[in-house]
Amino acid sequence: MKQLSIFLLFYILGLTGVYAQGSKVAIVIHGGAGVILKKNMTAEKEQAYREKLQEAMDTGYALLEQGKSSEEAVIAAIKVMEDSPLFNAGKGAVLTNNGHCELDASIMDGKTLNAGAVAGVKTIKSPIEAARAVMHESKHVMLSGSGAETFAKGEGLEMVDPEYFITERRKKQLEKAKMQEDARGNLGNPMGNNNFKFGTVGAVALDKDGNIVAATSTGGMTNKRFGRIGDSPIIGAGTYANNNTCGISSTGHGEYFIRLAIAHHISAQMEYAGKSLEEAAEDVIQNKLTDLGGTGGIIGLDKDGNIVMEFNSPGMFRGYRKSNGEQEVSIYR
Ligand code: ASP
Repeated sequence: MKQLSIFLLFYILGLTGVYAQGSKVAIVIHGGAGVILKKNMTAEKEQAYREKLQEAMDTGYALLEQGKSSEEAVIAAIKVMEDSPLFNAGKGAVLTNNGHCELDASIMDGKTLNAGAVAGVKTIKSPIEAARAVMHESKHVMLSGSGAETFAKGEGLEMVDPEYFITERRKKQLEKAKMQEDARGNLGNPMGNNNFKFGTVGAVALDKDGNIVAATSTGGMTNKRFGRIGDSPIIGAGTYANNNTCGISSTGHGEYFIRLAIAHHISAQMEYAGKSLEEAAEDVIQNKLTDLGGTGGIIGLDKDGNIVMEFNSPGMFRGYRKSNGEQEVSIYR
């Protein structure tokens, strides 16, 4: 009888999620960095971004509060943003030079250092789900193009017509970018270009068991050519997680993030130089990235639930929520 009552107590606590209280849980998300200025934003547009960021953050946070894993939380948060045409991921992703969407995504588990990624996919509705399937169901870390699509289909993931991702807004953005590019397709200094918004999405969460998972999903950069792949699906550049240090998701001019191995760079400064998350992120973004001429930012959290949202662009869509009641959604510097 006594055993039965104890079992029932834990069962009820489990259902209500009470056991997750008291342990630290946290989630931090981004919806891309870039030249995001209040003067270029209408009140309605700003409201729409804020609401979607809040929805993504709350969706992930609710799972953490129920005692679910950080993996489930980041996937759920990212899927809200992939499904929204506001962000450059999933539906509403930016267009390549020939007018298609080619999507990249990655995820990393800070406990096991397992990781999964897909690059250059055109028909998988949720690239982040595909990255998770690569992590769990394949012996590889990164799958690309049609191979990744065959794999995703085999895993029973939802496949869509490539047209599903394309929006009028991104068509106009591509036209504008083509007018501004030079003969080699370069868009010049992003900071001086009002068109330069990145819009990738990412999330990092800490669950009640102290596990950190980081994930990122994107359409890459407007007008990209030749099968270009950015930092977002690259473990160590766009995404990194290690329970002993931190979890990071990046957004910005991917070529610079790859060259600096930005996400791992922050973790390495914590591990080898004993820096705090805040110190490491500030150095990597404000010094290393800025000195190389790159633009963008990162979000991250450490094992104690400390949050960082560091960027060198005028804005970054971002938000975080913690079990101590702190929360924020912001856009501008
Ligand atoms: N980092 C992404 C890329 O270079 C772009 C972004 O952050 O929006 O593909």
